[in-house]
Amino acid sequence: QADLARAVGNGELELAYQPLLDTASLRTAGFEALLRWRHPVRGLIRPDDFIPLAEESGLIVGIGEWAVRTASAAAVKWPKELSVAVNVSTRQLADPHFVDTLVTALMDTGLDHRRLELEVTESALLRDANLPILKAISDLGIGIALDDFGTGYSSLSYLQRFQFSKLKIDRTFIMSVPENAKSKAIIGTVIDLARTLGMRVTAEGVETAEQFDWIAENCDQVQGFYIARPMPAAAIPGYLATEAALPRRRQA
Ligand code: C2E
Ligand code: CA
Ligand code: CA
Repeated sequence: QADLARAVGNGELELAYQPLLDTASLRTAGFEALLRWRHPVRGLIRPDDFIPLAEESGLIVGIGEWAVRTASAAAVKWPKELSVAVNVSTRQLADPHFVDTLVTALMDTGLDHRRLELEVTESALLRDANLPILKAISDLGIGIALDDFGTGYSSLSYLQRFQFSKLKIDRTFIMSVPENAKSKAIIGTVIDLARTLGMRVTAEGVETAEQFDWIAENCDQVQGFYIARPMPAAAIPGYLATEAALPRRRQA
């Protein structure tokens, strides 16, 4: 915890960026920023191994603020049509300064509000008290995606009370495509639900051509190792240049 408290100041935190592919145009629609901790002794630590500690200790508030600023600063350098998604812990939503830190980060970096999207996890911690904060953020033009959909507890009741811009179908459902008929039925139904409620849909964790072929037709965006692994910010121009050289397979 002491190491983590120093990590931001020491420049040990990094963001890796994973592309979100728009399935209509087969072009990159944006990137999701994923936290990495380059510990001087332990080496690279993945978020699942330190986010829980950051949440318990409250350090996630400062780390999360750093993540929004860093991701926004990166995204202003990308082509204007690309967005950036940043993961937000429910713990951050409880911070009374959260909305201010978002506005300040966007002002300082000059990123258009509409190019930022926050991903909130459907978790037991997502409470009614969080909804007004989410509403205030989406009123600013910032998109709110419901992450890991299908793994939590009370998602349907939240869908009734808040207009998420996007729903991300959890990897565990995509993982069992195409073999598992139940997963496919659930995914199909979730897509119908999202469409009816006016949300875009992203399938995450797409790893194989079979999964891609099955899902791409029905989702707005696809994300996963099959498209690309998370990459450092410096690799993005090269990635986009390679993509621009490919022929368009379908019209947007
Ligand atoms: P997530 O938001 O569900 O992010 C997607 C995770 O799935 C990432 O793991 C990504 O590297 C991984 N992934 C992407 N495509 C594939 C695939 O095709 N197959 C497989 N097996 N995995 C894939 P990562 O980077 O280890 O992040 C883990 C979790 O840590 C994230 O899950 C998110 O909940 C959390 N996290 C990451 N960055 C932040 C952050 O800045 N703030 C907060 N609060 N949480 C973060
Ligand atoms: Ca996410
Ligand atoms: Ca997810």
